[in-house]
Amino acid sequence: MPGLSERILELLNKQLNAELYSAYLYLSMAAYFEGESLKGFASWMKKQAREELEHAMKIFNYIVERGGRVSLEAIEKPLSEWESPLEAVRYALEHETKVTKSIDELFKAAREEGDHATEVFLHWFIREQVEEESQFSDLLAKLNMAGDDPAALIALDSALSKR
Ligand code: FE
Ligand code: CA
Repeated sequence: MPGLSERILELLNKQLNAELYSAYLYLSMAAYFEGESLKGFASWMKKQAREELEHAMKIFNYIVERGGRVSLEAIEKPLSEWESPLEAVRYALEHETKVTKSIDELFKAAREEGDHATEVFLHWFIREQVEEESQFSDLLAKLNMAGDDPAALIALDSALSKR
């Protein structure tokens, strides 16, 4: 099998950076929730951050398997404050929508380059993005339902600690 094309290698390295940024963003959200005394939300976000590191490692290992060179760029500084838990989760959902778009673009590029192995590799990520968007929109819906009721927020926080 031929090595990765320059274009695909560059896009894979970019996606690797995006996954590391995702981990950083969710860790930042975990810190924000800790500050708000929402331990369940914080622990949920920490688990999400760990998952993002796994996504990054999948890409790292794939680049190596294909004989490519991993190149690590600087990770953008994430926001550290949000107006409310609802705003934080809304931000996370928007972020995941962008990640989905960038994976879709990577998939399209692999198709254009005739890189079938990368297409197949990306199937897992395409499916994973369906889960990511669905779980964040579910959480957003629950926060909307809780509204300004502190008791509902506390109940949601304790449910989230079980993830
Ligand atoms: Fe991810
Ligand atoms: Ca996931």
